[in-house]
Amino acid sequence: MILEGKVALVTGSTSGIGLAIAKALAAEGAKLMINGFGDPTAIERECEELGALHDGADMSKPHEIERMMKRCADELGGPDILVNNAGIQHVSPVEGFPPDKWDAIIAINLSSAFHTTRLAVPAMKEKKWGRIINTASAHSLVASPFKSAYVAAKHGIAGFTKTVALETATSGVTVNCISPGYVWTPLVEKQIPDTMKARGMTREQVMNDVLLAGQPTKQFVTVEQVAALALFLCRDEAAAITGANLSMDGGWTAA
Ligand code: NAD
Repeated sequence: MILEGKVALVTGSTSGIGLAIAKALAAEGAKLMINGFGDPTAIERECEELGALHDGADMSKPHEIERMMKRCADELGGPDILVNNAGIQHVSPVEGFPPDKWDAIIAINLSSAFHTTRLAVPAMKEKKWGRIINTASAHSLVASPFKSAYVAAKHGIAGFTKTVALETATSGVTVNCISPGYVWTPLVEKQIPDTMKARGMTREQVMNDVLLAGQPTKQFVTVEQVAALALFLCRDEAAAITGANLSMDGGWTAA
């Protein structure tokens, strides 16, 4: 198992992409701290399956992030692998975009990665090994209407990734982001009703004419595909990949 002895912290790992990444890392022997909201019984089951600890820190709150990072260091001795994945979405034209949703998206999708990263980097540098993987999005490279906060946050995390990669380049630490196109997860499912309203479309029209319209493969990306790439980035063979924004979007950003 390639991650024996490594500690991984995956934010937003009670669902979707984060959960799949947590499973892939645990399957290779990493000791896991998972994070995110959800049904306590389901979270407990996930912890048992993965041999993981759960921390319910709210990624919009810097002091909770600081507490979680300290707990991860004290109880697990890590993280060696940090996956900044927690994210939310809100779909609305900019003139009606609720300011509190803007603030929440910037805090959870962008600023939380700053806080976890600034707290994780010193120990990674000391150990001369570390992996920081940010779940960005095709929206870190291109925009879509009605997603101003999300697109701003994702473009932001792509820039943040590059900057930290340069700062850690000689330390054995790599920093990359993965940019999926549409992945079939609760986050995507939940935005269908708002997009129907914003664009005056049926559910089928949103699926085919909005979500998969720009994805040339006409297939949703799977969470397992994203997890497999995250796992590859943890391998020693991936030591030369840093500062990269790796697209996994069925050709979306090639068009
Ligand atoms: P999801 O809704 O299935 O999972 C989101 C996770 O984040 C959950 O575990 C949730 O509890 C957690 N979370 C939300 N708010 C939080 C907070 N304040 N504090 C702590 N945890 C919080 O979504 P997903 O589709 O798996 O998305 C995961 C990441 O992938 C996000 O950053 C998202 O932007 C990105 N992404 C998703 C897609 C897609 O099509 N699904 C595409 C590109 C990028």
